[in-house]
Amino acid sequence: MRGLVLRGTNNIFNVACEDGTERLCTIKGKILEQETKYHNPMAPGDFVQVEPDAHGEARILSLEPRKNFFARLNEKTSTPQILAANVDLVLCMTTPDTPPFRPIFVDRVLVQAASQNIPACIVMNKIDIVASEKVREHTAEWRRLKYSVFEISAHSGEGIPELLAALANKTVCLTGQSGVGKSSFLNGIAPDLKLMTGEVSAKYNKGSHTTTCGTFYRIKTYVNDSPISLNIIDTPGIKNFSLYGVDKDAAALYFPEMETAVGKCKFGLSCSHKSEKSCEILRRVQAGEISRLRYESWLNITE
Ligand code: GDP
Ligand code: ZN
Repeated sequence: MRGLVLRGTNNIFNVACEDGTERLCTIKGKILEQETKYHNPMAPGDFVQVEPDAHGEARILSLEPRKNFFARLNEKTSTPQILAANVDLVLCMTTPDTPPFRPIFVDRVLVQAASQNIPACIVMNKIDIVASEKVREHTAEWRRLKYSVFEISAHSGEGIPELLAALANKTVCLTGQSGVGKSSFLNGIAPDLKLMTGEVSAKYNKGSHTTTCGTFYRIKTYVNDSPISLNIIDTPGIKNFSLYGVDKDAAALYFPEMETAVGKCKFGLSCSHKSEKSCEILRRVQAGEISRLRYESWLNITE
């Protein structure tokens, strides 16, 4: 029987089976041995074949090939952690403040998504908090680069209909630093979820699995009285987003404004884009075609 992985840790997964039943599943034997180079063998959004047993549980027999997956490097284990599988869009939530605005976190998520060929957009939550000049500059720059930036307030509901209209019928991977308001947003569009919100320390008690496990939610909601459906894979609270599979030399390929400069420097692909004369990337920075803000993010990623 086919099933959709909703959440799970290393060995036990909640799977929505096609007969309408949600079952706790374990992996049969070593069938997924090829996955051991990953931090987790499966992620929310994966499709699997399961064999139900007589006790209402099931065994996972095989994993279907993925359309794509969104991952980060898990620094504790030095292995890629698959955050979500089979996604249409990565959504990076950020805030003008509380927690402090960290554009580098956002740029890292954008680069990771681009490297895995997944479209990405930005959601600025808490727009009831006044945005600094720096926040406005980054937002304008992302828009100039053709990233969608949605401005919302999970508290007041402002901007949420426009965002939901863009997410209808998609499977969306929701990322962002802890505290940006992911749970508040989800509760707002699907009150039945009743997710815990608030201070990170209060939300996750030490040693609990909740911090390392994402969850697939099937959401039915309304935009201006019209029903819409969407799937959201909420990712665990992450402090630092470490890139997986993005080579230092390849990082510029995932900055749309740098991509076309790669290979055009005098020293070709061996250019470090830091001090060389006749470096096309530095030329574009000086000409204002590549913003200093984004060049700094690129430096941060490659150093
Ligand atoms: P998560 O860690 O990303 O799931 O964040 P939470 O949903 O737990 O929210 C963290 C804190 O931000 C909570 O105290 C929320 O009440 C607060 N918060 C969420 N949305 C908003 C908003 O739109 N405006 C303001 N001012 N605070 C918000
Ligand atoms: Zn260069």
